[in-house]
Amino acid sequence: MSTERHASRFAPPKPAADGRIDLIGLDRGELQAALAEIGAEPFRARQLWHWIYHRGVTEFDAMTNLAKDFRARLAERFTVGRPQASADNLSADGTRKWLLRFADGQEVETVHIPEEDRGTLCVSSQVGCTLTCRFCHTGTQGLVRNLGAAEIVGQVMLARDALGEWPSPKDGRLLSNIVLMGMGEPLYNYDNVAKALKIVMDHEGISISKRKITLSTSGVVPMIRRAGAELGVNLAVSLHAVSDELRDRLVPLNRKYPIAELLAALRDYPGLSNARRITFEYVMLKGVNDSPADARALVKLIEGIPAKINLIPFNPWPGAPFECSDWPTIERFGDIVNAAGYASPIRTPRGRDILAACGQLKSESQRVRASARAQLTPTAPA
Ligand code: SAH
Ligand code: SF4
Repeated sequence: MSTERHASRFAPPKPAADGRIDLIGLDRGELQAALAEIGAEPFRARQLWHWIYHRGVTEFDAMTNLAKDFRARLAERFTVGRPQASADNLSADGTRKWLLRFADGQEVETVHIPEEDRGTLCVSSQVGCTLTCRFCHTGTQGLVRNLGAAEIVGQVMLARDALGEWPSPKDGRLLSNIVLMGMGEPLYNYDNVAKALKIVMDHEGISISKRKITLSTSGVVPMIRRAGAELGVNLAVSLHAVSDELRDRLVPLNRKYPIAELLAALRDYPGLSNARRITFEYVMLKGVNDSPADARALVKLIEGIPAKINLIPFNPWPGAPFECSDWPTIERFGDIVNAAGYASPIRTPRGRDILAACGQLKSESQRVRASARAQLTPTAPA
């Protein structure tokens, strides 16, 4: 399916039950146009932007440098929305996972991972995913729909609310980095993701630099170059296998865009250098892709690409058809990659106790619906 057809078929719903327009998720031009409709001059857009994205204000009445009657007119026509958190779980290791519910009842998960020198928000781009990577819990859910730009930015806004990070602090942020590694394939929802990231990167607002944002893709080759040229964010690629035969099975998108095509697109990724490397993600599956021969083949495959290899211990989920490689096997794999000159950190699983680790995300609504269906469906007579 072309990415355009994909985008329209799974488009997010038009919001605003009460007819008011949510200002979140509009780019600067759209914000200006929306304000023009109530007769506001262009400079007002900049004031609003500051209140919304730098100060985190959700009530027009709190925008104290605007005249009272103007605030009232704004409130009549517009809102500054937030997704609703229908669950909020804190892991023993400090990882926090929110289940967000949108106006149409659909849900996604967002995860905050605090570390010593940074705090990373793992953001979702779709409700479910069309792709069906065998080791991924989201992949068992199917795609429900794309998220709109407002819903993607909304994940950041809600996390900032919860972390008490308004106005946008200059340094020492609890939310300093963003990874698009939650539910969904961001390059199959490119327009909304790009719009949301431009809002998040804007210097007069949330202001998270492109160097602190990483987009993870399972390998949508035709969109990779565009993402690099237009957004300039870091790229992570879910490789997971070194032969087409195995990758076809683990990451079925490989049948469409095989390894050689993927690597050619990566070699062309704009701005690559030793300071700006591609991250290859490699999930460690016991007896499947974790042999020393696999490690040596990996090194050969990516030769010449400035890269680091993130080894991800497989995170199990109920009914998963794989096991995680043993620790010594992962270390041996890492040593081989490292000896070839590539950093090969082993990603410590975070938030496993609240099912917040990589690949464990799957919305609660889907699970509940499935079990409710099971209860409601009468068993067929034998
Ligand atoms: N769709 C994008 C981004 C979301 S997945 C992508 O596939 O890249 C983020 C990362 O988690 C990917 O590298 C994915 O392959 C990995 N992942 C998925 N399921 C996993 C699991 N059960 N254990 C460990 N990593 C997993
Ligand atoms: Fe989708 Fe990524 Fe999961 Fe694959 S790993 S099913 S692309 S979310």
